[in-house]
Amino acid sequence: MDETGNVVSLPTYASSDKGTTVTITLSSPAVFPTEFGEFEIRAIRDSEGREHAVVLAGNVSGSEDVPVRVHSECLTSEVLQSMRCDCREQLLSAMEQLGTTGLGVLIYLRQEGRGIGFFNKIEAYALQDTGLDTVEANERLGFPVDSRTYEVAATVLAALEVRSVCLMTNNPRKIEALETHGVRVSRRVPIRIEPGRHNGGYLRTKRSKMNHFA
Ligand SMILES: [Zn+2]
Repeated sequence: MDETGNVVSLPTYASSDKGTTVTITLSSPAVFPTEFGEFEIRAIRDSEGREHAVVLAGNVSGSEDVPVRVHSECLTSEVLQSMRCDCREQLLSAMEQLGTTGLGVLIYLRQEGRGIGFFNKIEAYALQDTGLDTVEANERLGFPVDSRTYEVAATVLAALEVRSVCLMTNNPRKIEALETHGVRVSRRVPIRIEPGRHNGGYLRTKRSKMNHFA
């Protein structure tokens, strides 16, 4: 990072899958008051032109075991209050934790619908309405079960000079992916969400077919 805080191209760490290099630019930090506490926010622009967000609590630079949530956008639950999934609850739970501990990082990635985009996500919902589960619906549309990638998140953590993370997640694949890109995950912190009336089946599928912990 340079003195102005305006970064800087940071190559990702060995990306075993495609050998791609992701570069990111971080905006200047801005004060970010929320109902969970006063944080700092920075915008991220990646080399594909996508824009993401990073919310920071406390001084994470050079720290070990920093609480980190890497969260992928879910327009339907976070903005439109959908009860088909648990993304909004997970996001709010992570922000609450940042506010409580006063230290941590939330990286909000704009990869809607597990990476297939908003349009395809709604097509998958329509298929689920006919009885398919979330995994079968994606397969019917010709998409992998999970198309999300974590190079950007890994690069952000490197740019922020976070040494190791306590990752808030129920998703073993996310830990693996971040480690592949050079992030040191010292511990997993589970996120516990009570199943509601509409998302029980979805949560069960995540456990049984996607190896989620909870
Ligand atoms: Zn969701």
